[in-house]
Amino acid sequence: MNNTADAIVVGMNVAGATISKELASLGLDVLVIERLPQKRIGEKTCGDGLEKHEFKRLGMLLPEGKFIIREITRGELIAPDLKSSITAQAEGRGINRYQFNQHLVSLSLKEGVTLLDETVAISPIFDGQRVAKKASGITVRDNQGNTKRIKGKIVIDCSGVFARIRNQLPSSWWVSEKVDSKDTAVCYRETRKFGFELDELFVRAYFSKEVAPGAFYWIGCQNLRTVNIGIGILRTPGHPNPKRQFYAKLLPRHPYLEKGTITWKSGGVVPARRPLDCMVANGFLTLGDAACQVNPISGGGIGPSMFAGKLAATVINEALENRDTSIESLWRYNKNYNDQYGFVQAGGQIFREFLSSLSDEDMNKILGVQILSEEDILYALEHGKLDAGFVTKIKLARKLIRYPNLLILLRKMQSRMEKVRSLYLAYPETPRDFLSWRTKVHTFFNDQ
Ligand SMILES: Cc1cc2nc3c(=O)[nH]c(=O)nc-3n(C[C@H](O)[C@H](O)[C@H](O)COP(=O)(O)OP(=O)(O)OC[C@H]3O[C@@H](n4cnc5c(N)ncnc54)[C@H](O)[C@@H]3O)c2cc1C
Repeated sequence: MNNTADAIVVGMNVAGATISKELASLGLDVLVIERLPQKRIGEKTCGDGLEKHEFKRLGMLLPEGKFIIREITRGELIAPDLKSSITAQAEGRGINRYQFNQHLVSLSLKEGVTLLDETVAISPIFDGQRVAKKASGITVRDNQGNTKRIKGKIVIDCSGVFARIRNQLPSSWWVSEKVDSKDTAVCYRETRKFGFELDELFVRAYFSKEVAPGAFYWIGCQNLRTVNIGIGILRTPGHPNPKRQFYAKLLPRHPYLEKGTITWKSGGVVPARRPLDCMVANGFLTLGDAACQVNPISGGGIGPSMFAGKLAATVINEALENRDTSIESLWRYNKNYNDQYGFVQAGGQIFREFLSSLSDEDMNKILGVQILSEEDILYALEHGKLDAGFVTKIKLARKLIRYPNLLILLRKMQSRMEKVRSLYLAYPETPRDFLSWRTKVHTFFNDQ
């Protein structure tokens, strides 16, 4: 194997498989470094859902293949008291996540990508000094313990939420932004198989501070005999352990689940915020969970990662054709991502923070009087804001007159979603205006 490539990609899950395939299809020589053996890629804690609205918004077709388990036509949001619920026409597809990832890997390999599996990317390599300093490769270690240096014209970090390479870049590089753990959720998930058939196929998300503080838990059918049960907890200081919560709090609320045999169990962490402020540097680009490209309301990251992969590939290809992989040359990726999806995530973060801040009692009221309707939630997921009708609705909300504090909170959340959307749609065209934009964003998010 050559120790050089046009592009070095770290990680072969959704983000890595997508961008490597796209780059190879443009004729580039692409090398992917993946710590897992090829046959284990895609063994991932997941809700196993592809959201139709996300693919539609991003101008992509929903993926097709044998990995699809079922069509989803609706989802239910359940109040903490288990009495009220909203049923949303949340269309999508249930997938076998492992088979889906293996499918993406095979598409990438067919395009001519070289995969170095069972190999860990340890640290970045640099060329140049000061402002000319650029990422120029990766030091890797194989499963025999041998290390070697691999050089590339561009280094692409798709290593997931812990961003193994990005986090080792110089702290003065904007892309090395540290993600606060309170902006991520820690999850535990099982699949359970029953010896009997359930009455119906469903996907249900449950809000409950007592069970899943800061986020939610879910129960979704893969088929009438198998369910995917998961719990997400925001990683605020002193947060409880999700597996312990699963057994101590979740299962007792749904005793029928105890009758199922466990067929899979695993944990994971997912980002729950806006994308990184800046996702490029000299000779470097990042995408997927490593760049926090996940919808903060739903935790859906597959669509945004695939979108970012396609977007980034065109920008990188042009940069390589121009022999210029500077931050200026790669900047268009930042701008285009934020213009098309970053603003949805930023608004989604405000919505998620609002939901996290509610007590169970207030959540019961909101879902009970249905002031947040199914359309409101779907609109927020898709557009990162609430639709214009919501403003009129909360002004006229007789149902909420009894709860004036909630009314104030809802209005504040709605107005903050609008403001952050405008901020993101004004993402700077060039690095020159980045620092003043970033100051505005940080002031906005620190000013609750
Ligand atoms: C509980 C849970 C439920 C979810 N449910 C859904 C859902 O239903 N729908 C949806 O759209 N999204 C869902 N997501 C989010 C989705 O799984 C992620 O957004 C998506 O997997 C991001 O892909 P990625 O390629 O960026 O990162 P990852 O999937 O994390 O992949 C990173 C890859 O990099 C490799 N790697 C890491 N470090 C190194 C290293 N040093 N060297 C070499 N290789 C390395 C890893 O082995 C892995 O293969 C969920 C996430 C969680 C945690």
